[in-house]
Amino acid sequence: MTKHRRKSNGVTPMMAQYLEIKQSHPDCLLFYRMGDFYELFFEDAVKASAALDITLTKRGAHDGKDVPMCGVPVHAADSYLNRLIRKGFRVAVCEQMEDPAAAKKRGPKAVVMRDVARIVTPGTLTEDTLLDARENNYLAALTEVGGDLGLAWVEMSTGEFQTERISIDSLSLALNRVAPGELLVPEKLSQREGLSNLFAEWRDQLTPQPDSRFDSENATARLQTLYGVASLDGFGDFSRAELSAAGALVDYLELTQAGRLPRLERLRLVAAGSAMEIDAATRRNLELSRTLSGERIGSLLSVIDETITGAGARLLSRRLAAPLTDADEIRDRLDAVQFAVDDSVRCEDIRHTLRGSPDLERALSRLILGRGGPRDLAGVRDALALANELKTTLAQADSQLPKNLSDAVEGLGVHDEMVQKLSNALAADLPLMARDGGFVAAGYSPELDQVRQLRDDSRRLITNLEARYREETAIQSLKIRHNNVLGYFLELPAAHASKLSDEYIHRQTLASVMRFTTVELSELAREIGDAADRALALEMRLFEELVDQVANQSETIAKAAHALATLDLITALGKLASDRRYCRPVVDDSTSFKISDGRHAVVEAALTETRQTAFVANDCDLGQEQRLWLLTGPNMAGKSTFLRQNALIAILAQMGSFVPAAHAHIGIVDRLFSRVGAADDLARGRSTFMVEMVETAAILNQAGDRSLVILDEIGRGTATFDGLSIAWASVEHLHEANRCRALFATHYHELTALTAQLAALRPYTMRVKEWRGDVVFLHEVAPGAADRSYGVHVARLAGLPKSVVGRAEEILTTLEAGEQSGVVARLADDLPLFRAVPEGEISLEPSALEQEFAVIDPDELTPRVALELIYRLKGLLK
Ligand code: ATP
Repeated sequence: MTKHRRKSNGVTPMMAQYLEIKQSHPDCLLFYRMGDFYELFFEDAVKASAALDITLTKRGAHDGKDVPMCGVPVHAADSYLNRLIRKGFRVAVCEQMEDPAAAKKRGPKAVVMRDVARIVTPGTLTEDTLLDARENNYLAALTEVGGDLGLAWVEMSTGEFQTERISIDSLSLALNRVAPGELLVPEKLSQREGLSNLFAEWRDQLTPQPDSRFDSENATARLQTLYGVASLDGFGDFSRAELSAAGALVDYLELTQAGRLPRLERLRLVAAGSAMEIDAATRRNLELSRTLSGERIGSLLSVIDETITGAGARLLSRRLAAPLTDADEIRDRLDAVQFAVDDSVRCEDIRHTLRGSPDLERALSRLILGRGGPRDLAGVRDALALANELKTTLAQADSQLPKNLSDAVEGLGVHDEMVQKLSNALAADLPLMARDGGFVAAGYSPELDQVRQLRDDSRRLITNLEARYREETAIQSLKIRHNNVLGYFLELPAAHASKLSDEYIHRQTLASVMRFTTVELSELAREIGDAADRALALEMRLFEELVDQVANQSETIAKAAHALATLDLITALGKLASDRRYCRPVVDDSTSFKISDGRHAVVEAALTETRQTAFVANDCDLGQEQRLWLLTGPNMAGKSTFLRQNALIAILAQMGSFVPAAHAHIGIVDRLFSRVGAADDLARGRSTFMVEMVETAAILNQAGDRSLVILDEIGRGTATFDGLSIAWASVEHLHEANRCRALFATHYHELTALTAQLAALRPYTMRVKEWRGDVVFLHEVAPGAADRSYGVHVARLAGLPKSVVGRAEEILTTLEAGEQSGVVARLADDLPLFRAVPEGEISLEPSALEQEFAVIDPDELTPRVALELIYRLKGLLK
């Protein structure tokens, strides 16, 4: 370990440098570059060694105490960074800004210059090793100015940069739509009481920042400089809050990227209402991009994802997260998918070409941020070459291209020159890092070829020299070898050493061999070393030149990247539609919702995979005169599946995909609500029933006449009467107040009585067949109401002990007999469920027991009186 001289205050110059850098990055772990390692010290080392499960050592002392230290090798740093970021750390990567040899020249005490080259945070990642290729990674900022909230978000790999004006009510919706990997908020706002619940949900993504970073005037100036304009008016009518959020993002990018900025597109204003709003609970319940257990596999996204490239998959995920509400835009998307369905041969050709496509978006973003390598240049070359190929494929189409496809073709652009340039420049085998050298092809630079020639010639001279020395010394086992410590040297068995003349200078003695050098060999070695250094320096210069040329054309290259992603997505949706028999939906501004033979995309795919049974398709028509369906039916009959499939069809249609149905006509849905399944939210102190009620409240308070609502088993988490009453009142409210299209599934068969009073309420049921004492679920939706739930039957299927099932059947028979006797007719008018309660248990007068209880004052009771009371109560029971 190197010894460091102590300064007068007892701190070594290196430690002083470390402390100074650390002081400017108190909220980050500091990766401090020392040769081939990033070292961490003090508290950072303790935290990182625990998080990474690596050894904690110590290095020297500070303030009389040992300094804890741990380190990770530079070549494997990405995987450690990945683990730290996932665990919620931010890491400042501090590099050596000069060659240690250069520092030495300044004097023996000089410390190598170091500086933070980048701060690694979840929202600013660009490395393939740190990112999921098929997922977007947004960095967002939220702020409040003059009572207005503003949200801005950016995707580093696409440069997509957007803002939205939001209200407190729509904040959660917008955050769930964008789903940022990191969310910046001013410290003051992060402590706002009314937002604490929301911020708790986003706790892992939240990065509070000093309020000063959100100053709206600075932000405006920063954005104007970024775009080189005197005013942002031409970009859109942004609020001060939006500008503040967008400016804070740019500021944060500059900070974390140490002054370099990614390519940012023109700031775009997302108009309120331009996407179908889907709240967090609905997204979760419908398992759009993750299943309830948090996995991608099994979600709608995983089932419909036929894309080939990472960029295509990311685009699909963005579209699924934000289905459109503009019927024309949706029609344009559907036209493109229709083309892919109709011209399936060309569609397959395109997909075949895309198979070799590198991730152009991410390669470009790394190159622009100065973090790219020769393989990223090759990525640009290969992707642009594919773009040319695809253009030719599409130019040969027989029919006219629909708008979105012709836009994509235009976006592919013309990149012959760039492709040629990069093809000429890059060698066949490429190292990951430019500094490893050897990536420039022979013939690209005469100067480099010359230096390489020199280097190779010198190597040949070494071989000649070796032959000559063998001859001169008559030692046949003499070899010229090379290692990093000694450079070139002569090596021979120790026994021969005495034969050497003075010309041979001793360097090292090992167990059986001795090592020497000569003036001539040293001279040659120096020449080789110089030539290699010069070759590398030249390569680095050529690399920078190439990167600059790519950066200069980043706008058109980014367009090509977007076009490639779009083509991937369109053809993937085309394939999905053809393979799975999806139909083109009609989407317009009506309030229609008419699905024929609809299917559940995920359940159908699962059934197909296991080849068990075929999925049974069902119709659904929520036209104005029957906009509210009351769906009853036994357990396991397929109610939840039916409810969800219709919601999923609406989402698919509005994101511009074909849908699993024979026909579908959907009037734009502006908000989708669902209340399905039950889950505790104990972290937020909510029981299952409370979660259910909170979600129901959101629906009843917010659903409008363009909303689509699916409600599954409202009121099941509480006592029967409470539950039935809540369900009853909710149906009435949906019908009378919300007036939305809705599907309401319930086991409270009594609710069907409401269909007589509510004009647009229709009863539907899941059909079952009883066969030889067994129940067969037909999974068919038919008009009418169920009279039984067959819950006991399902309990038997699930393997409840025979004795319990037997007893349950007995009780059920008794209860049903009570219902048939129709005793409590008066109550039945009011709450029909009371019919199910056996005779004798219900009376409108307080019972004798209740009367007795009413007068008891527990505080007044002596033990003896209490005992007597118990005897009296017991007597009353008899
Ligand atoms: P519960 O009332 O117990 O919640 P449910 O009526 O909501 O039951 P689902 O959960 O929708 O029933 O469906 C149960 C199972 O039936 C599903 O997991 C699926 O395998 C199968 N199923 C549902 N609908 C269909 C269908 N249309 N075609 C074929 N199988 C279906």
